[in-house]
Amino acid sequence: MSGSVAATATRNLRWIAPVRLRAEVVHGFGRGSKELGFPTANLRIRWDLENSGKHAQLTEGEHAVLQFVQSHDTGIYCAFGRVEGCGEGHGGVHRVAMSMGWNPTFKDVKTKAIEPWIMHEFKEDFYGSHLRLVVLGYIRPEIEFSNLDELIREIKADGEFCKAALDGPELIRFLYDPFFELTRYAMSSTKMSSRIKDRSNDCSSHQATPVVGMCVRTALQGLPPLQLGNTRFLLLRHGETFANELGLLSGGGNDSELTARGLVQAERLAEELGRCPTELAVVGSSPLQRAVASANAIAMLFSTAKRIELDDLREMSYGSFEGACITNVSHQVKATSGHWRRGQTNHRLCSEAGESPEDVANRVLPALCCFLEKHPDQTVLLVCHNWVNRVLLASAMPEMGLVRLLDVPQRNCGLNVLDFSCSGGSGSPQQSVAATLPTLASRFKVLAVDLKVSDSESRM
Ligand code: ADP
Ligand code: MG
Repeated sequence: MSGSVAATATRNLRWIAPVRLRAEVVHGFGRGSKELGFPTANLRIRWDLENSGKHAQLTEGEHAVLQFVQSHDTGIYCAFGRVEGCGEGHGGVHRVAMSMGWNPTFKDVKTKAIEPWIMHEFKEDFYGSHLRLVVLGYIRPEIEFSNLDELIREIKADGEFCKAALDGPELIRFLYDPFFELTRYAMSSTKMSSRIKDRSNDCSSHQATPVVGMCVRTALQGLPPLQLGNTRFLLLRHGETFANELGLLSGGGNDSELTARGLVQAERLAEELGRCPTELAVVGSSPLQRAVASANAIAMLFSTAKRIELDDLREMSYGSFEGACITNVSHQVKATSGHWRRGQTNHRLCSEAGESPEDVANRVLPALCCFLEKHPDQTVLLVCHNWVNRVLLASAMPEMGLVRLLDVPQRNCGLNVLDFSCSGGSGSPQQSVAATLPTLASRFKVLAVDLKVSDSESRM
């Protein structure tokens, strides 16, 4: 520490949009902050990947940490925090005063650091554990203090100020943020995944063919462990819509809202996934509101997942038949099914416009490959549509093929599970687009089709 500038901190609480961070606790500058009464659990910031341009290797969580450091003012923040593996329930969530920046009192700091002081007595150090933070307010800018006594006094005052801010009516509710609930799943996930492994070892003829129509939890527990360099892809059909209920054709050009039952279907699926050892890196959807609303219901319980929309995942277009009552066009619908079953998968329901299964495959498969390639070793969930899902699943099952897409069951909020080989292709989006459909389809392995929430039929 150096300098003789006398400084007094002025504190004001400025709320920020809550930032949820999860990072490993690493060794800090070794200044003995702990001995001074305010240990700071320094967070790992992947400057190494950032500075060497290897952004693709950043996990979602690491990306969020870097983004926070790069987009927010340096200074002192208040937050709630929880160390994974320490404490049960909300008793494990603590008030935090956190510095982010250069720490100007010390001259040896070369990169910005995040240093949370968790205002709780821990029995032991927790280097290597993951700390979750919900950062809620900005307290003051960084100040260069002239001596250690001043620094200690001001940090203690930061702590008192943060405690009072966090206990205020606006922020205290974040003590119950679902982000902290997930810690429970993260803590148990290692145990659970070894259980899954045990089971898969027991079962020598391990799922050569996908399971169909099973309960989500049973099926997910029986899945083989994800192989390195693969993405586990949870593919969902949206919940029931008014168009489904009324028997109207609702494709890519005719949106329809979820019914109350459709929303409950999505919420119950989210709950079911929440009970499984599943950490979702992404919750995505097509841009159609029925898929968006279903995905939002899931994202509510997976708040760390990145929420995205992919335009290419929209439903097959029916052209000028969009919105038609199915009974009024039943003749054409039946004829189209016949064409498809005979192998004419380039046939369109509406001859002037709209799309065929092959058109959908040509649009959806390259887009999916480009997206999934970016998430090796992660689990992602996308909410799509009846034909989109059937086209992919049928294409990806060699024993089926696109010609049998009508035989693929796909109920509202039915869940499908596929593993995707990230290294099976070029890794370049352009080449994914150029690759043939069979090549793209061969990168998917279908593990489960049309899974249901347990007892869903009896309860809805
Ligand atoms: P370092 O320089 O390695 O960051 P510190 O003196 O700042 O060392 O102590 C921080 C370490 O102390 C943390 O990484 C954590 O393992 C442990 N620790 C214990 N209690 C706390 C606490 N209340 N807040 C933050 N870290 C704590
Ligand atoms: Mg520290």
